[in-house]
Amino acid sequence: MKTSRHFDFIIAGAGAAGLSLVWNVLQKEELKSKKILLADRALKPVRDKTWCFWDDQHHPFGDLVFHSWDSLEVRALGAVFREKLRDYRYHCVKSDDYAEKILADARRNSNVTLLEAEIEGFTFEDGRAVMQTPQGAFSAGHIFQSAMRPPGFQKLKLDLSLLQHFTGWHIRTGKPVFDPATATFMDFDVPQGNGVTFIYVLPFNRYEALVEYTLFSEELISDGEYEKGLRDYIGGRLGLSTGQYEIEYTEKGVIPMEDRRYPAQFCRQVWNVGTMGGLTKPSTGYTFTRIQQHSAEIVRALAKGAQPPLKVMSPYRFRVYDMLLLYNLHRYPETSIRIFHELFLRNRFDRILQFLEEKTPIHEDLKIMYSVPWLPFFRALYKMKHRIFTGA
Ligand SMILES: Cc1cc2nc3c(=O)[nH]c(=O)nc-3n(C[C@H](O)[C@H](O)[C@H](O)COP(=O)(O)OP(=O)(O)OC[C@H]3O[C@@H](n4cnc5c(N)ncnc54)[C@H](O)[C@@H]3O)c2cc1C
Repeated sequence: MKTSRHFDFIIAGAGAAGLSLVWNVLQKEELKSKKILLADRALKPVRDKTWCFWDDQHHPFGDLVFHSWDSLEVRALGAVFREKLRDYRYHCVKSDDYAEKILADARRNSNVTLLEAEIEGFTFEDGRAVMQTPQGAFSAGHIFQSAMRPPGFQKLKLDLSLLQHFTGWHIRTGKPVFDPATATFMDFDVPQGNGVTFIYVLPFNRYEALVEYTLFSEELISDGEYEKGLRDYIGGRLGLSTGQYEIEYTEKGVIPMEDRRYPAQFCRQVWNVGTMGGLTKPSTGYTFTRIQQHSAEIVRALAKGAQPPLKVMSPYRFRVYDMLLLYNLHRYPETSIRIFHELFLRNRFDRILQFLEEKTPIHEDLKIMYSVPWLPFFRALYKMKHRIFTGA
């Protein structure tokens, strides 16, 4: 097989994961001379995602953070839980800022080639990983891909599959209604009916916020239903009638929340990263921090001349917790809201974030589990036993 160009690494897909990987490779002294091909159907920064994450330490994209919050608020069953974080801060990064910075770094580096092309597939041939595009085939020692579902994806074991879907409006008002120090992490005190429904509010200053109407359900809803959910919330909770705010930007998204175990490789020497690598946490949809951690792990291995890690999944116990919560979110939406109520009532927010980040020691996990209604989890354990007792 003849390939038109050969590289050390091909990064196929330049979204959160692909760009994170390029950035990490470019920072690593041992990899500075490596030739990289970065491919995507479009290599232009666009604002289509606002990535939020929490961090307790210095994170690599400090200068890209658009806003950070010290306090979080959750509302459920009529109660308001608001807390100042002690160990973490909650941050957001806009996708256009992220892409602009990393693509500019890549363009300045003569070892990086950028290719705008539709990616058609990957193979392993004659000892090389190969990416096919209409512009020809490109080969590398390693390909890291976030563009395509791995082969056999539909056949992977799957019991629970939900979608986290949302529409958000970045609104600007003429009067000061927001507290830019507090983000509303989840407000469940909204009409429920199509699945677990909540509003997420990220205030950037007293006049501007991103307000997202979010659902966990199997089916998407119509544009009109998201819009009604947003309008009702902005009118009811924020007291702003139509005409008192302008919509600056709309964000829509669908994130898979599933118990599918994604394979680490697409084929030999082609590694799945990002959502295609199964990095989305099944019970929350958060992916951004896990992508950053995965990229750092890959680059550490490459710098030592080793193969990238084959194991990217969460530890077993966290996979089980995710499955149990996902089971309840899927089958018992009302019970799930009671679980969230008890969780935020009885635990510090920092501890919950640490748990969601899978950094709690087991005795803290047990305390958290003791704080929420047990019956739904025992029921989920029984119903999911075929998965839980076969490795989750
Ligand atoms: C709107 C939205 C908001 C989100 N917010 C958060 C958040 O706040 N916090 C969090 O932790 N997670 C969040 N997520 C989840 C997750 O972090 C993002 O989906 C993240 O972008 C996943 O990164 P990725 O690189 O796997 O995929 P993407 O960022 O989608 O990148 C994939 C890239 O591959 C390219 N591509 C795909 N197919 C082809 C092809 N055939 N040929 C060429 N190029 C191709 C695409 O153009 C794209 O650039 C959000 C997701 C969405 C959709």
